[in-house]
Amino acid sequence: MRGLVEGIVLLAVLSGNVSAMAQAGGDRTMALLERLSNAPGPSGAEEAVRAIMVREMTPLATAAIRYDGTGSVVAQQGTSGPRIMIDAHMDELGGMVRRVTPTGFLSMQMLGGWLDQALVDQRWIIIGSKGPVRAVTGIRDIHVLPAAERNTVFPRDGIYLDVGAKTADEVKAMGVEPGDPVVPDAPFAVMNGTDNYLGKAWDDRIGCAVLLEAMRQTAKLPHANQLFYVATTQEEVGLRGARAATAMVRPEIGVALEGGITGDVPGDRPEETQVKLGAGPGMFLYDSSTIANRKMVAFVRRTAADKGLPLQSDLVQGYGDDSAEMQTGGTGAPTVNLVVPVRYTHSHNGIVNRKDFDEMVELLVAMLVRMDARTVEELRSFAPSTP
Ligand SMILES: [Zn+2]
Repeated sequence: MRGLVEGIVLLAVLSGNVSAMAQAGGDRTMALLERLSNAPGPSGAEEAVRAIMVREMTPLATAAIRYDGTGSVVAQQGTSGPRIMIDAHMDELGGMVRRVTPTGFLSMQMLGGWLDQALVDQRWIIIGSKGPVRAVTGIRDIHVLPAAERNTVFPRDGIYLDVGAKTADEVKAMGVEPGDPVVPDAPFAVMNGTDNYLGKAWDDRIGCAVLLEAMRQTAKLPHANQLFYVATTQEEVGLRGARAATAMVRPEIGVALEGGITGDVPGDRPEETQVKLGAGPGMFLYDSSTIANRKMVAFVRRTAADKGLPLQSDLVQGYGDDSAEMQTGGTGAPTVNLVVPVRYTHSHNGIVNRKDFDEMVELLVAMLVRMDARTVEELRSFAPSTP
């Protein structure tokens, strides 16, 4: 039986049929990660991801699913106790068709933090009115490049999507027009029999998956809180969905779930970031949008230690995340940003580790079950302790 399954898996790998591989050798969680990673959802066009989230959340929620005015999804479990918001963003880095040239090329408005050198020589999918349209950003051939330009970065304003059309009318006939969303074309794959998964959009579909798996578990566990599982929109263009969702949920405690940035590839740059792939879940102590609440940090550390779970910590000098909005929205709330390490973020091809994912789910569930009115009161108290 085992041999048969392995044979099927190998066949699936060779034929590039990853769904078959997930069915043959994978499990429900792997299939969920595959679906979330493959779903197209640049900022402002999160429909495909939202559909997955709503479908998974609906049977686990204790009240009807609600939406904020930006399209963030709010799923509630429990009707009494402290209001805990668990947040992951649905959108991914992408673009939007800006202009169609008379010769059938398309310029692209980038959405989110792209490096110019990540844009050339890539495959993309345009979400057109008639369905997905395949596109490529070509690269200039070395044979025609002046020597001085060979090692320079091609600036984004000189990069065009090629959909194989010759005229603007042909582009129109494909169902493509200005404003259409564009996403990387980079299908999910298991990396060579390891527990590392390759794909696009782990920032922040890995957080969406943690959120869903935790919600599945807390549906069956006793807890003393109102848990608001929130999948937000438009994080990559400035935490916009989280702002609206926070106003709606009014959390007393906020937990953001994100993709972390690993610093574990060749090249010694320890000041950039500290988490490593496969070394367990991480916690941000600092990024340029948030300083984690110190009591929350201690609470997460205590919970991880009690559960025997590894916990990495990270300080990243750039970066922004939804915990900033939960922390400062309304009258403010203690927050923390928890991350599943992702290697190669903000690109077509990122890598996550399955064990990191599973341990993050375990840590989050332990935190949520442990919280109650007293814990939350302590976490929220800024009164000086009496000597
Ligand atoms: Zn993110």
